[in-house]
Amino acid sequence: MRNPPAPDIPDSRVMYDVPLAPLVTWGVGGVARIMFVPRTENELSSVISWVHSNGTDFFVLGGGSNVLISDAAFEIPVINTARMSAIAVRQSGDTVYMDCLAGTPMKEALSLSLENGWSGLERAAGIPGTVGGAVAGNAGSKTGFIGASVERVVTLEPDGSRAEWSGRDIEWGYRSCPLFDGGKRIAQSVTFRTERSSGDKVARLAAETMRERKSQPVSARTAGCVFKNPSGNSAGKLLDESGCKGISMGGARVSEFHANFIENHSGSARDILSLALLCRKKVLEKFGTYLDFEVKTAGVWEVCPDAGE
Ligand SMILES: Cc1cc2nc3c(=O)[nH]c(=O)nc-3n(C[C@H](O)[C@H](O)[C@H](O)COP(=O)(O)OP(=O)(O)OC[C@H]3O[C@@H](n4cnc5c(N)ncnc54)[C@H](O)[C@@H]3O)c2cc1C
Repeated sequence: MRNPPAPDIPDSRVMYDVPLAPLVTWGVGGVARIMFVPRTENELSSVISWVHSNGTDFFVLGGGSNVLISDAAFEIPVINTARMSAIAVRQSGDTVYMDCLAGTPMKEALSLSLENGWSGLERAAGIPGTVGGAVAGNAGSKTGFIGASVERVVTLEPDGSRAEWSGRDIEWGYRSCPLFDGGKRIAQSVTFRTERSSGDKVARLAAETMRERKSQPVSARTAGCVFKNPSGNSAGKLLDESGCKGISMGGARVSEFHANFIENHSGSARDILSLALLCRKKVLEKFGTYLDFEVKTAGVWEVCPDAGE
């Protein structure tokens, strides 16, 4: 496909044939034929208007820590939010609102709240990626979900218009936010609501969340948990008891530490997906439980990401 004419934003923020592998934590994926890297809300708005006027779909890439991108070239435009990073703070009594552009690393929002003793984001301790990615997937831990601290989300709608959503009105699900189902809408900014607390208490809660990670392979190339926990059960436990730990396909291997993590050791996206599908099959055969993906698959696949076997 030849590159379509890009919108009127500086060329340095419109890139062609960009390898995606360095931009995702699994380190796999083909090239993006066209990638937009907006820095401001206005630039993002121009990109969305262009996408809309060209009638094309798009894919939003945040920190790339929860996506499996196929090895084939990515033909639809990729919007990379990496440069849309800024935090503004407003206070009202003991409530502190943090207005974050969507590409702000969650780590930065968390650090600012920890430094100041603002409570609310501790449940995101140790979660890589951006504010937009965290909200799109309602990221969380055993101690809670990020959606509980969202005051407001500003989105750009499929027709390019701007919309505001109250966090309290959103029906947050387990690792899901219905606003972003279908990938047609993009989060432009998010306001977190935190409360003044004691620095020690906030640090203690964040440390508790971090302790949960001891069983995770944090130094390997992974994308966090591959599958969601089925109701009342642990995907990691089912995978472990189905004999998945340590099995490999090409350069992809199920972690010896945690069976719900797949490590990439110089493998391809195909290796990772094939291994994930094999693991899902093993669990289905042994327990009759079908595991849903927590990671998002994107791109063009020879094997179907949603295949049950
Ligand atoms: C070592 C490790 C540990 C992890 N631990 C956890 C954990 O404890 N809990 C947890 O929930 N997750 C965990 N994850 C997964 C991941 O870090 C989170 O899901 C994270 O919130 C994803 O954010 P991201 O910016 O990387 O999103 P990406 O991976 O870039 O994107 C994920 C999805 O969100 C969409 N998206 C991203 N930005 C936007 C936007 N601005 N608007 C609309 N859609 C958008 C993308 O299109 C994609 O569908 C872990 C990952 C790793 C590698």
